[in-house]
Amino acid sequence: MDALVPSVHKMHCPPSYHPERPERIEIAIKGMKEEGLEPNIVDPGMRDAEILTIVHERAYIEYIRGRGKGYIDADTYSTEGTFEAALAAASCAVEAADRVARGEFLSISLARPPGHHAGRSGAAMGCRTLGFCIFNNAAIAAIELVRRGVMPVAILDFDLHHGNGTQEILWYNPEVLHIDIHDAFEYPGTGWPNDLGGGAARGTKVNIPVYPETGDKGYIFMLEDILNFLMEKFRPKAFVISAGFDAYAGEGMGYISLSSRAYWRMGNLLKELGENWGVKGFAVILEGGYSIGLRKGLPSFLKGISGMGGEGVGGELEEGTRQYKIFLQLKEFLSSFNDK
Ligand SMILES: [Zn+2]
Repeated sequence: MDALVPSVHKMHCPPSYHPERPERIEIAIKGMKEEGLEPNIVDPGMRDAEILTIVHERAYIEYIRGRGKGYIDADTYSTEGTFEAALAAASCAVEAADRVARGEFLSISLARPPGHHAGRSGAAMGCRTLGFCIFNNAAIAAIELVRRGVMPVAILDFDLHHGNGTQEILWYNPEVLHIDIHDAFEYPGTGWPNDLGGGAARGTKVNIPVYPETGDKGYIFMLEDILNFLMEKFRPKAFVISAGFDAYAGEGMGYISLSSRAYWRMGNLLKELGENWGVKGFAVILEGGYSIGLRKGLPSFLKGISGMGGEGVGGELEEGTRQYKIFLQLKEFLSSFNDK
């Protein structure tokens, strides 16, 4: 399988230890090789910076272009090469979307810096930081698919953290269904079931906060149920996956911790849904994941979605728990949008 990796990603390199570092991509590729995925590394090159204006304000793009070495905020750094690396990451996302539009069932962008916390003009939804992100690669990929007539598009964001940038950018966009499953107690603190989208897009933003005790089975139960429900309602023609692997057990980034079996099942569930509902393809865009999640979770997910063998986990959620209440609340909200 091809893995889109821009060689210039190394120009975005932290001044001192930081989890979002160039070695992440080496860990991901090593993990893929260990699982027999044999990635063919492709650098698709740079697109024109105009692609960034699909989702970002020009003033923000110029702000990033003009920045040198330093910290943009408490947890996001920039270097002299950040603009080029971030534009290359966005270019990879557009290439992945184009490949899906041309008929590839699975296209994978392993680019960095990540993007799902970046809003139109930087930090999104009142958040104080960009959370290591620069340009919103997944939102750009989704809009690229819509521009090419592949719509509606669904984004599934299963990074540990809520994609507040993606939600902000697409809040009023009814052509993009944004489903976000994330740690209820982690940064940035946004993404609750009553966040449903604005105006004509109401009902197209779906948030599933997950409590620490929920585990593999509960996580998969909610994803299976809600994705099945949404497939029937929206019939998305393609998916963009905001694929973060920082919810993997041992990553140490948050409270929920998933196993390889959960990631394999997530991939395999998407493959099943894609085949059952006539989805053209999946553009997988790397978000977070900093160590073991990249090495183990990423290849498990890719094996599941590409139909390679693996061990999954069955969905199960105990009634009466606080997680079950969140699930019921979300189902009730979503059911009230009958014609969307
Ligand atoms: Zn994350």
